[in-house]
Amino acid sequence: MRLIFMGPPGVGKGTQAKLVKKHLGIVHLSTGDILRAEIYQATTLGIKAKSYIDKGHLVPDNELLKIMSKRLNEDDAKKGYLLDGYPRTIPQAKGLDLFLDKMNDAIDAVISIELDNESIIKRLSSRRFCNECGNITNLLFNPPMVDGKCNNCSGLLFQRSDDSREVIIERLKIYNKQTAPLLKYYQDKNLLKKIDGNGNINNINRLILRALG
Ligand code: AMP
Repeated sequence: MRLIFMGPPGVGKGTQAKLVKKHLGIVHLSTGDILRAEIYQATTLGIKAKSYIDKGHLVPDNELLKIMSKRLNEDDAKKGYLLDGYPRTIPQAKGLDLFLDKMNDAIDAVISIELDNESIIKRLSSRRFCNECGNITNLLFNPPMVDGKCNNCSGLLFQRSDDSREVIIERLKIYNKQTAPLLKYYQDKNLLKKIDGNGNINNINRLILRALG
């Protein structure tokens, strides 16, 4: 199965993608995670990407097209994949379509998780990551038992540099301008399934699995 997960930043795409990946046994490809790994390794792409990510801007399409064509050609993606955060622009969607045509493959469904801006700002500014196990937590819904420490492994929790209020507002603006047009693009292809992002993780997951049939 080949799936795309869409939705504004902080809507719970990553959390849901991890659950669905487990359920379906397909690889989860998050372009945000791929770019952060490049930044961590201080590669040429990572250094370039950081300057965009820190401002809440999108990394240029040509970089994403290059890195994703390479990644989607790897063996673990042959059986299917779940794309989280890709495509984010019409040129990326068209690039993905060309790639799929070449491989004689197709996307099975596009899941769009929807939530209002105020809830997103609240969620994102309370989001924390563990630097040891990568666990994502939220001070509102799942506060740490020990201040600043991960409930899973006691690693230190940190806030992403692009989860500050100003950068969140910029990311939302960019989502509405550059990524939201993709909803119509996939609606026209009869692939779009809209999911209400309000509610708890398990209920949202049930809605997604039901939508996937
Ligand atoms: P995310 O973890 O999905 O919220 O992505 C974090 C940041 O990485 C975004 O705000 C963008 O700066 C960058 N990014 C992730 N995916 C893409 C993409 N498909 N196109 C351009 N930039 C991206």
